[in-house]
Amino acid sequence: MPLNLLEKKQAEDRKKLLEERGVTLDKLKKDINSAATKEPTKEELAYEIQLSKLQKSINKEIKRNIDTIVEEGATNDKLDFFLTVTLAAIVTDFASRITLFNDTLYDNTLYNTLGINNIPSNITKEMSASWIKENVDLIKGVNQRQVSQIQASMLRATRTGASTKDLQSELNKIFKSGRNNVSFIARDQVSKFNGQIDRVKQMEIGVKQYTWITRGDDRVRPEHAAREGMTFDWDNAPSGGHPAQAPGCRCKAKPILDSIIGVKTT
Ligand SMILES: [Zn+2]
Repeated sequence: MPLNLLEKKQAEDRKKLLEERGVTLDKLKKDINSAATKEPTKEELAYEIQLSKLQKSINKEIKRNIDTIVEEGATNDKLDFFLTVTLAAIVTDFASRITLFNDTLYDNTLYNTLGINNIPSNITKEMSASWIKENVDLIKGVNQRQVSQIQASMLRATRTGASTKDLQSELNKIFKSGRNNVSFIARDQVSKFNGQIDRVKQMEIGVKQYTWITRGDDRVRPEHAAREGMTFDWDNAPSGGHPAQAPGCRCKAKPILDSIIGVKTT
């Protein structure tokens, strides 16, 4: 990707700075690899545990007050408290944890080596707010659908005179599928957010392209396995989006630094 004159000048300056500080290309490559391959797995697991716990409490509440909930739907006071106050507290906490994971990772490796220590925190603030909203909406959506399914099942059971045992097993299926949906959302959303932070930060320091890297296991979807090692522009997302944006995607974007240091890093 060709650079304009100003970008060329900046790249030359940075290259000179790195030479003065004795930073070798090998050291840079090592830092790029280190930053690009670490995953927020601890955050992912903790988020899944927290949201599953919440979902268990919600399901307990629904079972305990099934008549009122069938009557009032997801607007029921107690349910609404879980789905607004408690949920928002968990999601907001994790937005900070993921941001911190990403900040720490890059500060300690790549950006530190490059001598970049002033990425403004407001560039992730907006993203964080929209991630919080999206996550709250997703979990609320699962529960609203769940309550509608319960209402429908109860009505059907009354109409057809189904046995309590059959109704119970139908309700259990609904609860189980709700819990599975919540777990998937938790696992999916952490790497998605981390990938979005990667993108804005890399673009902020002048990175224009990245190398697509996969986890290299058999869970990688074939379209993404075919992208392993290929170069993409941050400005031009491939079909299905940048790494970690498609549902369940665990791929990552390794920054190509040519545009900011004037030497090939790949
Ligand atoms: Zn993928």
